[in-house]
This record gives sequence, C-alpha cells and structure tokens, in this order.
Amino acid sequence: MTPTNENTAAGWNFDNTYVRLPDAFYSKQELNPVDEPALVVMNGPLAASLGMNEEALRSEEAIEVFAGNRAPEGAEPLAQAYAGHQFGHLNMLGDGRALLLGEQITPGGERFDIQLKGSGRTPYSRGGDGRAALGPMLREYIISEAMHGLGIPTTRSLAVAATGESIYRGEELPGAVLTRVASSHIRVGTFVYAAGALSGEHLATLAEYTIERHYPEAANAENRYLALLEGVAARQASLIAKWQLVGFIHGVMNTDNMALSGETIDYGPCAFMDAYDPATVFSSIDTHGRYAYGQQPKIGVWNLSRFAETLLPLLHDDEQEAVNLAQQAIEGYMDQFHAHLLSGMRAKLGMFGEEAEDEELIGRLQTLMQTHRADYTNTFRSLTVGELEDNALFGSDDFTEWERSWQARLARQPQTEEARRALMRANNPSIIPRNHRVEEALEAASKHGDLEPMHRLLTALANPYAYAPEQEEYAVMAACGVGPYRTFCGT
Ligand code: AMP
Ligand code: MG
Repeated sequence: MTPTNENTAAGWNFDNTYVRLPDAFYSKQELNPVDEPALVVMNGPLAASLGMNEEALRSEEAIEVFAGNRAPEGAEPLAQAYAGHQFGHLNMLGDGRALLLGEQITPGGERFDIQLKGSGRTPYSRGGDGRAALGPMLREYIISEAMHGLGIPTTRSLAVAATGESIYRGEELPGAVLTRVASSHIRVGTFVYAAGALSGEHLATLAEYTIERHYPEAANAENRYLALLEGVAARQASLIAKWQLVGFIHGVMNTDNMALSGETIDYGPCAFMDAYDPATVFSSIDTHGRYAYGQQPKIGVWNLSRFAETLLPLLHDDEQEAVNLAQQAIEGYMDQFHAHLLSGMRAKLGMFGEEAEDEELIGRLQTLMQTHRADYTNTFRSLTVGELEDNALFGSDDFTEWERSWQARLARQPQTEEARRALMRANNPSIIPRNHRVEEALEAASKHGDLEPMHRLLTALANPYAYAPEQEEYAVMAACGVGPYRTFCGT
C-alpha cells in the first residue's frame, strides 16, 4: 500500500490549527523512531467515533504511527510550549515527552488533538529522556477510559504501542507510547507562559484561539475575555465536583495539568479513594497533602486565580476593575462547585427536590464514613442496592440513627421507590478502578505480557453503573493487610 492509501484506509483526517499560532507557542519536531513498534492495546469504539477504521489501524503502517515512527499524511508534529506551577512553584515546562501530531476532524465535524506521549526528546525535555514506561501508559489508558465510563469529561486513550526499547527509572522497564485524544491541550500553563514570556499580542491571540475552539459563545459577549474566564471557571466547577462525587484524586493538579477545555488531563499519580477521608493522598511526592482529596476544590480556586492573573490586562483597562471582575468570576466558581456537589450528593442518596436539612444529612454520613473508615464507593453502592453488609459503619448506632433521618427524608418525597433507586444507580458507580485491580492488570501486562486481566477490567469499567452480576468481583475491596497505596509519577 502507498502511504496515501494507508492514510485513507485508517481514516486520518487532519486540519491543524495550533501550528498556525505564532511559532513561540511550539516547536516543530522530527519524529524519534523506536526499534520495534508493537501494538499493545487499541480502543476500537474510540477509533470509530473519530471516523477511523479499527482494522486498518492494526496494520503495520498504522502501528508505526502509534509508536512515533511514522507521521500520517496531514500530521504536523510539534511540541507545545507552556509553563506550570509545580506544587506552587513556577517553571518553564512544555511537552518534554509528547508530540501533537495534529487535529483529527471527526465525521461529525468535531476536532480532537492526537498526541503521542512518550515519543522522545524535545527542546522542552530538561534532561529527561522523553520516554515513558509501559506500566504508566497503560495506567493512563485504564483510568482515562474509566473516567469516560463514569461520565466525567476526560482526555481519552486511543492506543498504547510498545517501543521494544528499555527505559530506566531506577530499574529497567519496557518503553511505550500512548496515543492520547483530547479536545485540546491548551492548559492554564499555556496562558501562564504567554503572559509571562510572550507579548500582550500573543496573549490575546491565545485567548481568541481558546474562545474559538472551546467557548464560541464568549465571542458574542460584551467582555469576551471575562466570558472566557467565566466559562473556564464554570467547567472546572462542574469537573471537580464530579471528581469529588466519585472519589477521584488527580494527584498533581499543577497549573500545567489543568486543561481549559474542562477535561481531566494528565493521569500520573491519580487514584480513587477507598476509605472516606478528605486527607487522602496517594502520590509519593505529595508529602504535604497539597493535592489531597479534600483540597481539590480549593486548588481549583488557586489554579483559576493563576489563569485570571494572566487575563487581567485583557479584562479591563483599569487594573483595579480588572481585579474585581476576576475575583467575581472566581467566587462564581466556588458557588457553582458547591451547587454541583450538593445536587450530586442528593442524587447519590436518592433525594429528589431540596430540603433545608439535606446538607446536614449528607455531612453526617460523611463524618460517619470517616469515623468508621468506610469504603466510599461501597457505602453508596450498599445504600443503592439496599443491602448493608456487616461492617463497622453499618453496625454502628450512629448509622442507624442517620438511616432513620434519611428514610424519613425519602418518605417525604412523592417519587416512587423505583424512581429513587434508579436515581441512585445512575449516580453511584458500582465499580471504580480499584487500586489493587489496576495494579494486578498492569503487572500482568507489563511483566508477563498477559493482557487478559486488563481487557477484563476495561470491559467492566466501561459500564460502571450497570450493576451487572459479572462485575461484582471488581467491587471487592483490597484484602486487609495491604499497606497504604502509593502512586508514583512514573516519569
Ligand atoms: P507531568 O508530570 O507528566 O505532567 O510532566 C511535567 C513536565 O515534565 C512536562 O513538561 C513533561 O513534558 C515533563 N516530563 C515528564 N517526564 C519526562 C521525561 N521522561 N522526559 C522529558 N520530559 C518529561
Ligand atoms: Mg503534565
């Protein structure tokens, strides 16, 4: 096959806009070919939704694309420039191990970045090798697809290809490249970079680009940049509320890891909380708990504040007035976040309508879960199916008292019992990617070449609200005696 035929068969359909921004925003890049590309996993349904042909994507030529050995026709590989506050400290970053191949236009006219992660060194690599290990790339694949299954906005994973090369992270590990699909990779850090290192004109160009790509409604607003800020704040309020509701801990909410599209991005040391505790941290490098579960909403404020600062010169000619507008937008974020969280919690508890005491009722349950170290997901799962297992929480008198208040609240609503259960099932996943099951799948795949556990896990996670009997094994908690879970950046 000629490359053009292969391109047509695979369904690549690029129209690249980022590369038309001023060249200070990126570095065009040559590919960094690897020894032995081999496909590890491919996302058939995602490929189809992108207008691509799964069969053709399994061809040798297509796999060379996923390993970063060949650019498909129409691709214009580049590494994006951005800055980021890493645990609060500002650094110049950029894609140190990623390449944006281009923007795929779907049959429905949607635009998605196609990015290779682990594709080799770039001008932004800062001493790193530009590579990624198979385990962490499969981990991103599993968790991002789980988030999609949960209905949470996220970047997605199209494929993981092994490189046949070894990388070194304290030990020798198999290398791999992840093909990531995102609405865009514009980050708070992209604005931080533009505001700090480029001209005001560049900043306005980036703001216009972001409005056109993600917030077209802001183009008609009286103050378009304020509308952009409000739009970003609204999407973060909704996103972070969704994280809190399922117990997702991102782990490294640096400003370079907050996407302006409102998608969850950059799955490094993330994990789902087991026992309910707002102080839960999994990341080995988050020693002060900056990105603990209970801190995430406030970190949203912190990151949005950094974003708002970049926009100040565009918000108003008068500096004080610009600050006032920014502050109002950020206050709006907190109000919206609380509203989303409260309505989401009501739904998790099957409560229709609103009563003044709902917040207190929810808070009491949270306190009880924390006191009795109850599993967050399984507590709501039990309440949903109406079967309370034998554990410290459900056996406590405090819980019995709480349950009485809850039942009384439910009895006051006119909806049927059936409708109440349906509401709870739609809002309480019966399964999440439990840490021990993710580790088990990764170990089988990356150490023994056995992909079966990962495929089974992915199948279960695709429908987390199904409450199907065959999924039940994935709801089982890790055995006692398994120490506290730790995640690593894997860079
Ligand atoms: P992350 O922790 O993945 O969000 O990455 C933070 C920054 O470090 C980004 O600029 C990455 O591109 C860069 N980075 C991470 N791993 C590597 C690596 N192995 N080689 C070069 N740069 C890297
Ligand atoms: Mg990052």
